[in-house]
Amino acid sequence: MDEFAVTCSSCGRERTLEDAYDYNPIQVVTGRPVGWYSGDDGEVCPECMTATLRGGPLPPRRESITCPNCGRTSWNPNDVREGYCGACHDWTTPR
Ligand SMILES: [Zn+2]
Ligand SMILES: [Zn+2]
Repeated sequence: MDEFAVTCSSCGRERTLEDAYDYNPIQVVTGRPVGWYSGDDGEVCPECMTATLRGGPLPPRRESITCPNCGRTSWNPNDVREGYCGACHDWTTPR
């Protein structure tokens, strides 16, 4: 199934079942939430697409760590860098 895995080329987020809608310019015109953009120039998630359309800052590229103790996943850049788990209050992921 890996060949069907689609990730945003901007933030690295994987397309999930919740990203059911494809991007369509009509969504922009009508002010509706935009869908997942998929084109020759890459894949862009709705969050990054919205940020691009509004000229706002793009969501940061998401790196995550999952604690081997409690299974909590953190997207906090500091946690990722340090291997720190906020739930365990400990450096649980070896770096
Ligand atoms: Zn994205
Ligand atoms: Zn933990």
